[in-house]
This record gives sequence, structure tokens and C-alpha cells, in this order.
Amino acid sequence: MDKRKTILIVGGGFGGVRCALDLAKLRLVGNPRVVLLSDKPHFEHIPSLYKVATGCSPLEVCIPLREIFARRKIEVCTETVDGAHLSEKILIGKSGMHYAYDFLVLAVGSETTFFSIPGLDKNAFALKTLTDALRLNWHLTELFEQVRKSQKTVQIVPAAQIVVIGGGYSGVELAGEIAAYARKYIERHGGDSSLITVNLIQASPRILETVPKRVRDRIVRRLNRLHVNINVNRPIGKDDIESDDFFRGAIAPKTLIWTAGISPNALYKRIEGLSFDKDGRVLVDRFLQARGHRNVFVIGDGASTRWSGMAQTALHDGRYVARAILDRLYLRRSSEYRPRKPVSVIPVGYGWAAAVFSWMTLYGFFGWCVREAADLHFFLSILSPLRALRVWRSGLQKVESNKINNM
Ligand SMILES: Cc1cc2nc3c(=O)[nH]c(=O)nc-3n(C[C@H](O)[C@H](O)[C@H](O)COP(=O)(O)OP(=O)(O)OC[C@H]3O[C@@H](n4cnc5c(N)ncnc54)[C@H](O)[C@@H]3O)c2cc1C
Repeated sequence: MDKRKTILIVGGGFGGVRCALDLAKLRLVGNPRVVLLSDKPHFEHIPSLYKVATGCSPLEVCIPLREIFARRKIEVCTETVDGAHLSEKILIGKSGMHYAYDFLVLAVGSETTFFSIPGLDKNAFALKTLTDALRLNWHLTELFEQVRKSQKTVQIVPAAQIVVIGGGYSGVELAGEIAAYARKYIERHGGDSSLITVNLIQASPRILETVPKRVRDRIVRRLNRLHVNINVNRPIGKDDIESDDFFRGAIAPKTLIWTAGISPNALYKRIEGLSFDKDGRVLVDRFLQARGHRNVFVIGDGASTRWSGMAQTALHDGRYVARAILDRLYLRRSSEYRPRKPVSVIPVGYGWAAAVFSWMTLYGFFGWCVREAADLHFFLSILSPLRALRVWRSGLQKVESNKINNM
């Protein structure tokens, strides 16, 4: 029987991948097994999903885990984890398999929530997974194609109304990118771009609530320039979704895109013994361990930490936990976890971003370069240089979807 200790990491996203890669690099006493379980065989670069939704290759977003861990001492297993008995140190997979561990790292991220608004899940697109992004891209290209065709045949033209619900980072990024994409598409293929309207709806009085006012003002100006209509103080409820006149002055058909709700992965609630904050994130101690559970770490979006909800935080957490496990194996005391404030980079349409550092903010092309440099740096940290460059470059080029080419 294998007497080595087992480190089990659940989730092949930002936090899980970073933690596994760092563990593979460290000299671990006793040569423990490091096993990464994830429900998908690939890593998804979620911050670039908006690019796929607006015509970029999915290559940048979808990277096989086996490629990331090639020639590293990490066992990768595709498995959806369904529950756990923390007292017995056992994880339960959907396949029926049980996995024993000595150290457990939970990094299953978050998921879209529609806040039980009836019908919203059926009527709206989301943007949390690669499948969401591809679905949205197919829909948008079909929509723009309809506008183009109706122009050619001089029919009564159906206006395409796109409504992005949620004025947070992802809603703003997506609204700006869709507006720019629509304009580019119509320029290239013909049609009347004024028939496509993009609306951004926010429940509270301001979009990007956590961003400083001067930065928000610049972003609002940029959105205006891209002809995105911003509607604030506009909470969406059940009646809105069911009403024909959901958006005043609206002409059907309408495309609803929901970016206003993200909650921690439902798996956390299925694990007995975890405790939660008011947002449903797992309460952790000074070492990122689930409260009351030694050697069970929670990282990334699921952990109740100061800056959780950002990829940069998940990476920071993954790095910290790899060191903490190393310390445990050497029976050393770990340093306490210190949250690190992430840098916000908000792209709004191709070639423009606001990069907000604590000492200055870069706007426009330079801000966009910061974002691209950060993405390249990330890909270089998980892939070979050549492959990283290829993946990163694919995010810079728009490709026509097969659907359009076949029309
Ligand atoms: C549209 C959008 C744009 C964003 N843009 C930015 C940005 O620009 N900058 C930034 O810093 N952050 C951004 N974020 C936030 C960022 O994506 C998350 O904070 C980050 O992905 C969290 O990392 P994680 O490791 O906690 O989870 P994830 O990266 O989501 O990884 C979770 C992993 O767990 C796997 N998994 C899920 N359930 C199970 C299960 N039951 N069993 C096994 N495996 C499972 C998933 O397949 C996935 O591999 C954005 C988020 C969204 C939705």
C-alpha cells in the first residue's frame, strides 16, 4: 500500500492550478502524491470570456490541464466532487469514487446565480463558462447577420436590442466589447449599425460602485462614445422579465445578458461542518483553513477573504497554501495569510482599458497594454513560452465563427 501522504486539490481554475504548480516546484518531504480533481479536463481563463463572446478564438480561454501539468508530478483526474466527510478525510466523487486525503484544498470557485427571479435563467444569457461565451457568440453573430440581411432586402428591419444586466466589471467589459464588435461587424459585412443598440442596466445609482469616481467618469465617457446606453437605478424583477415592455421604448427581439449575480459554488454548502459568511463564502482562519478544520484549505472565490472574487486573489491564495502545506510537511509554523489588494484593469472595447494602480491610473491604449501584459505573464507562468505566446496571440485576433462563414 502507498504510505505517502496525499494532497488533494479540488478545482482546476486559477487557485487550484496555481497551488498544484507551486507544489510541483517545491521540494516536498516524504514525496507526497499531489492529485488535482476537476469537473472539466481543461482550465478556463474566465477574464477573457468576453473576448470569446465577441468573436475571439476560444484557444485563449480553454487550456487542457494535462498540457499545463505535462512532465510535472501532479496526477490530474476529471471528476465532479459531490460532497465530503471532513471528519473521515474522504471526498466523494459523482462517479461514486471515494478519495482519501491528508491535505485538502478546495478551489471550486463560484457560479452564476439568478436570485430565484423566475424565468431569468431561461430568458437570459450568462457569462461564467466557455459554454456560456460560445452560446452568446453564436447568438450575437446570428443577430447581426439578421440585421445585415434585412437591410439588403429592404424589409422592415428588426432592430437588435442587447441588454446587459449588471454594471459591475464584467457587465461593463461586455457591454463595451459588444458595442465595438457590432460596429466592426456591420462595417465589414454591411448593414446599419444604428439598428443595434446596447444597453447597460444597473440596479443602484452608479455603475462600477467600487471604482474611484474619476475612473468611473472616464469609463462612462468611453461607454458613451461606443454608444452604450447606461440605465442606473433600474433593479430587475420578475415582472420586468415577464412584461413585453421590459425596456421602455423597446422593440423586440431582445437579447438579455445577465452579469449581476455570482455566488460561491453550491458544493461548499453540501460539505458538512463548514461555516459561512453572509455572502455564502466559507469562513477561514488565519491560515486559510476552513474554520475548525485543520489541513482543509479554502482558496479563491469560495473563501471569505478581503479581496476574494478576483483571479489575482485566487492565484495569491494558491501560492500561499502551497507554502503552508510545505511548512506542515516540514512540521514548521506557517506565516499567517495576508490578503493582497488586486490591481483593477477594466477593458472597454478593443484597444482601451482603465488600469487602476494605487498610485496612478492608465487609460486607453496604455491601460489595455497593461491588461494584455498581465494575461501574457499569466500564460507564461503555466505554459511553455512558445505555447503561451500562441495562446495569448489568439486572444488578440477576432475570428469569424463557422456559423457566419457557412451562411
Ligand atoms: C465574466 C468574468 C470576468 C472576470 N474578469 C476578471 C478580471 O478581469 N480580473 C480578475 O482578477 N478576475 C476576474 N474575474 C473573476 C475571476 O474569474 C475569479 O475570481 C477566478 O476565476 C476565481 O478563481 P477560483 O480558482 O476561485 O475559481 P475558478 O477559476 O472558477 O475555478 C474553479 C474550478 O473548479 C472546477 N469545479 C467547479 N465545481 C467543481 C466540482 N464540483 N468538482 C470538481 N471541480 C469543480 C471548475 O471547473 C474550475 O476549474 C472575472 C469573472 C467573470 C465571471
